[in-house]
Amino acid sequence: MPIDPDFPKNHKVTGIHRHANPDYFHFVWGPGRLADASDDENVKNAYAARDEEIVPLGVHGTFVSVDWDVCIADGGCIEVCPVQVYEWYRTAVDVPAKDVPNTTSPGNGESHAKEGRKDYTDKSDPIREKDCIWCMACVTVCPVTAIKVEQSNTQFHENAKLSFGK
Ligand code: SF4
Repeated sequence: MPIDPDFPKNHKVTGIHRHANPDYFHFVWGPGRLADASDDENVKNAYAARDEEIVPLGVHGTFVSVDWDVCIADGGCIEVCPVQVYEWYRTAVDVPAKDVPNTTSPGNGESHAKEGRKDYTDKSDPIREKDCIWCMACVTVCPVTAIKVEQSNTQFHENAKLSFGK
């Protein structure tokens, strides 16, 4: 089940994920639904090993968007992005994914390698969303169509900024 291309209309902003550099932040859209990640053996085993429950997580980012319910921690997007928009969230803040909205990440995710994930509970996080140069490489490489890059969605981002006083 790919990312919903109309998620800004079908979801609402449920949180903001901040970066230690205040120039960077992205919105989180929910409520989400269980999708590919909850059926993936690597992901299921990794959650079990941590004794964490797989729950709906929603979409991180608005114009560079990763559906965390679809993301199976492949990491191709992290490796292919020419401007390091993404990081493995868990290499920066090692908390359950459901707790990431309304937190601040230092933005120091250690690895931009595909195999740099902490484990398969990790997710690709568009931590430097505003640096995107619209090359679409991440969209092409994702094996589960978890990513949508849509320049016109910047309007939804701007609208959400007003709600959050940004
Ligand atoms: S579209 Fe290109 S620049 Fe933008 S996040 Fe994807 S890989 Fe990076």
